Amino acid sequence: MKAVLDHIGIAVQDVEAALAFYCDALGLEVEAPEDVVTQRVRARHIPVGGPKLELLEATAPDSAIAKYIEKRGPGIHHITLRVEDIRAALDHLKARGVRLVDSEPRPGAEHAQVAFIHPSAAHGVLVELKQPAAQGPLLDVKRLGFGDLQLTMLHDGGFKLDGGAMFGVVPRPLWETLAPADDRHRIQLAMRPLLVEAEWGRMIVDCGVGDKMPAKQADIYALARERHLDHALAEAGLTSASIEFALATHLHFDHFGGATMREGAALKPRFPNAQYLIRSAEWEDATHPHERNRASYLQDDFLPLKDAGVVRFFEGDMTVKPGVRVERSGGHTGQHQVVFIESGGKTAVYVADMIPTTAHLQDPWVMGYDLFPMDTLAFKRRLIREAIDREYLILFEHDPRVSAGYIRENARGQRFVEQVL
Ligand SMILES: [Zn+2]
Repeated sequence: MKAVLDHIGIAVQDVEAALAFYCDALGLEVEAPEDVVTQRVRARHIPVGGPKLELLEATAPDSAIAKYIEKRGPGIHHITLRVEDIRAALDHLKARGVRLVDSEPRPGAEHAQVAFIHPSAAHGVLVELKQPAAQGPLLDVKRLGFGDLQLTMLHDGGFKLDGGAMFGVVPRPLWETLAPADDRHRIQLAMRPLLVEAEWGRMIVDCGVGDKMPAKQADIYALARERHLDHALAEAGLTSASIEFALATHLHFDHFGGATMREGAALKPRFPNAQYLIRSAEWEDATHPHERNRASYLQDDFLPLKDAGVVRFFEGDMTVKPGVRVERSGGHTGQHQVVFIESGGKTAVYVADMIPTTAHLQDPWVMGYDLFPMDTLAFKRRLIREAIDREYLILFEHDPRVSAGYIRENARGQRFVEQVL
């Protein structure tokens, strides 16, 4: 069995107090927090070379960490070894008569699978085995009732973009613990159109990338569409024909490529029964590209829609349908807009490329792709402040693992996402 040290778990009374030593006194950097609901702990990870220190605070009196502290006081609680195949590792141990706490893997932090070996077998040390989550994006279809509306995060597969470009001026050592890069310096992203179902009909917000990308580009972007929007719609019990409105945040290929499709040599609207709702000024920009944005605005993604007479242009910020309001953010493109979903006194925001992933929560972590980064910064600063204060549910289009969550701030002013979907 091949195993590497993943982390050392340390049971602490109060995680914030422990950070005063590990971060302030030792000067180590801490990662964003994570609550492991199943184990009733609050976990903070501190990278030390390859492995990490994991500070664990109990969130319930009956959690294993609470019991441990009650019995022995704070201290080293477990070590975790990373294995490639946790089931094979458990079989290997069972065959040798090793006493286990878990004979089957169970869900752990960061979507990993974990199992504990009994301390009596490991000479007084609690050993955890961990099989990390698969590297690809999480592509399940997630549904949520939201006031009078039904929201569904669909997907059109995954892709990758250059990590440096995704984080702009932020140095790689800062972003790569949050978004590890592959051997071609790319980070994993998802494409998640939003489906809004209401009594007025069904609307899709953005359409994914679609099936028109040539092989060379598909390789550069590591396009992975073994499962794509048709599968996602089917999982939601729908087809392309079910969509009555398709709204664009902006017309970049990873957002609106899926608006059209090939049929033989011809291009046609992908949703046969839909009106396509597009901000006229964005259309103007997309159809008059310059050297800097030409690779993102692919004319085949949207010109066929106008030819087919299915585009409804609109001007400025407005309520497009009851409960669905667009607001121009600018920044990423001059006319990029975010979509506010408001119902039953609650607000959700489909933030598109304003906050592409949960690794972009800090105001100045702005993509190098953005045409007007200072506009992104200004809009994002205001939006995130409001989202924290008013508890907006944030819908993430590109995050590989998190579809929706609330942005929270801890006592140290650090932001993190409490995942909902
Ligand atoms: Zn994008």
